[in-house]
Amino acid sequence: MSPTDLWLLGHGIAASPSPRMQEAALRARGIEGSYRIVDVPPDELGAALRRLRTGAARGANVTIPHKLAVAAACDRLEGDAALVGAVNTVVVEEGRLLGANTDAAGLEGALRAAGLWPAPGRGAVVLGAGGAAAAALLALSRVPAGPLWVAARREEAARLLAERLAPVLEAAPVPWEAAALERLLERAGTVVNATPSGLAGLPLRLERLGAGCTVVDLRYRPRPVDTVAAAGAAGLRACDGLEMLLHQGMLSFRRWTGLEPPWDEARAALLAAVDGMIR
Ligand code: NAP
Repeated sequence: MSPTDLWLLGHGIAASPSPRMQEAALRARGIEGSYRIVDVPPDELGAALRRLRTGAARGANVTIPHKLAVAAACDRLEGDAALVGAVNTVVVEEGRLLGANTDAAGLEGALRAAGLWPAPGRGAVVLGAGGAAAAALLALSRVPAGPLWVAARREEAARLLAERLAPVLEAAPVPWEAAALERLLERAGTVVNATPSGLAGLPLRLERLGAGCTVVDLRYRPRPVDTVAAAGAAGLRACDGLEMLLHQGMLSFRRWTGLEPPWDEARAALLAAVDGMIR
C-alpha cells in the first residue's frame, strides 16, 4: 500500500466523479496515493471491510447502498455518524474502522459557500427519506431553520426517518402529495430534494413556493439540474448538489490526511468530471 490509498466503496457507482476530485486533491497537496472505486454488492461487503481492516487502504468513502451496513460494522462512530447511524467516511487506524459522516457538514458548507444559508424560522421541507434526507434534516436543524417536515413516496419511510432522528431533532412526516404539502410549501424558507427523482416526479409546484424560498436539489447531473433551472426561471434562489459533493468529499480528505483541502483544485476537477459525463 502506498501512503494514502483510498477507496470509494459502493455498488453501481462506476460513473462517480469523486475519484477525479479526490485524486486532484491528493496531487495538489503533493501526496502519493490513489482514490479508486471498489464496487461490491451487499453480500461481498464483509470481505471488503476485512481487506480494509488489514491495511488495503488508508480509508474510504462509503456510498449507496452501504452507508448503514458500514456504520454497523465500524469499531467506533464519530459525531454525525453516531447521530444518524450512517457512515460516508471510514478511517483505518491500527486495524480498527472509525466511521464518520461528512454529508450534513458538507451541505452546511455548500449552502454557506453559495450564500444560501437558510433564514432561521420559516421552516424547511425535505423530500426523500434516505441518507441524503437525514443529512439535510441534520444540517437544517443546526441553522436552526425552524419547523422541519419530511415527505417520502412511502409515507412509512418518512415516519421511520423522523423516529430515527428523534433523539437529535424534530421532523414531522407529511404526505407525498402536492395538495397536502401546499400550505407548508407556501410557508417554508427552504425545500430540499433528497431523492433521485426529477421535477416531474416530485410533489413540488414551484409556483406555490413563497417569495424568497430557496430550492436545493442534492442531485448534480445532468446539469443544469431541472429543479434548479426551473426555480431560477421562477425567480427563486436555488442550487444543485455539486457544491455539497465537493464539501463532503473535502471534509473526508481532511479527516484522512489532516491537511487543509485544496478547494479550488478539487472544485475544478469535479466540474471537469461532471461536465465530461454529460457530453
Ligand atoms: P437513498 O438512501 O437510496 O434514498 C433515496 C430516497 O429517495 C428514498 O426515500 C427513496 O424512496 C426516494 N426515491 C427514490 N426514487 C424515487 C423516485 N423516483 N421518486 C420519489 N422518491 C424516490 O439515496 P440517498 O443517498 O439519500 O440519495 C438521494 C439523492 O441525493 C440521490 O440523487 C443522490 O445522488 C443525492 N446525493 C447527493 C449528495 C451530494 O453530495 N450532492 C450526497 C448524497 C446523496 P424509496 O425508499 O421508496 O425508494
